[in-house]
Amino acid sequence: MISYFPAIYPDELVYSWFCRYYVHSGFFLSKSAMQELYCKRSDNPSKEFIGNLNSGAMEQIAKMYPLDKLVLEHTMYPQYARFIPLEQKKTALYRLGHDNCDAHHLFCVLPRSEGEQYLRFCPLCVNEDRETYGETYWHRKHQIRNMGVCTKHKCRLVESSVPAKSEQSFTFCPAEHCIGHNKVAFEEEPQMIRLASYLDSVFDAPIDFNKDIPISSILYDGLSRTKYLKPSGRSRYTKTLADDLNVFYGGMGLCNIASMYQIQRVLLGNRSDFSVVCQIAFFLGMEPEELTSSTLTPEQIQQEQDSHYMKDTAPVDWVQLDADTAPILEKVVQGVYDGTANENSRPERVSERLVYREMGLLGHQLENMPRCRAIFERYTETYPESWARKIIWAYQRLRAQGKPFYWSDIRKLSGVKKKNFQSIIPYLQQYTDAETANRIVALIE
Ligand SMILES: [Zn+2]
Repeated sequence: MISYFPAIYPDELVYSWFCRYYVHSGFFLSKSAMQELYCKRSDNPSKEFIGNLNSGAMEQIAKMYPLDKLVLEHTMYPQYARFIPLEQKKTALYRLGHDNCDAHHLFCVLPRSEGEQYLRFCPLCVNEDRETYGETYWHRKHQIRNMGVCTKHKCRLVESSVPAKSEQSFTFCPAEHCIGHNKVAFEEEPQMIRLASYLDSVFDAPIDFNKDIPISSILYDGLSRTKYLKPSGRSRYTKTLADDLNVFYGGMGLCNIASMYQIQRVLLGNRSDFSVVCQIAFFLGMEPEELTSSTLTPEQIQQEQDSHYMKDTAPVDWVQLDADTAPILEKVVQGVYDGTANENSRPERVSERLVYREMGLLGHQLENMPRCRAIFERYTETYPESWARKIIWAYQRLRAQGKPFYWSDIRKLSGVKKKNFQSIIPYLQQYTDAETANRIVALIE
């Protein structure tokens, strides 16, 4: 039975709150605190959401804070769910609070690039927290993707040594224990401060649970005031937009700039990533309110939806499309193949279906694109080959942790089924040295 819960601080992550529960409750090991909170021994704390709470903990918490309120005010929900369709938004709110649904099933969670791997903090907020509360905590807004500046103090956020990913983290890391005294560096680039306040206002705005206006329509409206949309409204100049946007943010030193491919998917309504949407809108000079409380009419929405149709029926310049798509496809496919683009960083097999889905192509269109076709073929492999790569990856990863491990750990991490073990053996040496291959075989047998 949970004995004592501290009060949650403004804008504090639930994860941070649980860390403080662990400290204040006097548990010697964070494992023991976890057992009080979560269902299974294997449950790990969620950094951005709530985690797999047991019914006792959930009941206790719901008495202090309604679960919807907790999700809205103390998790990263307002970032990930901000621009998804209305029904999906409602489902996500419910399932994150009551159902312990894996966030990856509810909306898109972009892989983290450099500069986004660890929980961040503002050294001046840390000082203020310590004065006000006697301890500091993990602030939610400092964790927004591409947020480089504390909007309150105009100083640069600092990366801690605590990973922002929930996977493979099995301890509570209270901010008070993990953050020492840090030098303060004020941000000198005014655009960077403006962008931070922009992200802050979009993140903070109340979420509309009544109107369902596609973000692609809102951005289309923003585009219509710029040179990036033909006056007829038929074509978007996505390539020029992506190039200009890249120069703009590159000059500011932003760590994760939206690619042409990501921009295209958002403009065509296939994706709605917070970071990509905000980058486009800020670059176009749109007000935050346009994104968060849109006043578009049904006619305006229809106009944007029709523009997709017109685009689809216009004759396609295959040579141009092949040339434009090839470099993007190369990057996407490579990231899937070696795992760098995958949230769990596990290498995956590149299938034709995946290429079609990722590039938004229709049946057999790849036949018209020889350069893209060649890239895809270069990455094509059989299932046993891809299983061999996954197993080597899992083996190396477990070895790097320096703790003893068993074949079952490799199986779990690689996701390769037992019945497929034998078929991978001939392929191991293709992807690793003989010694490693032999060690893996010895583990299997
Ligand atoms: Zn601050």
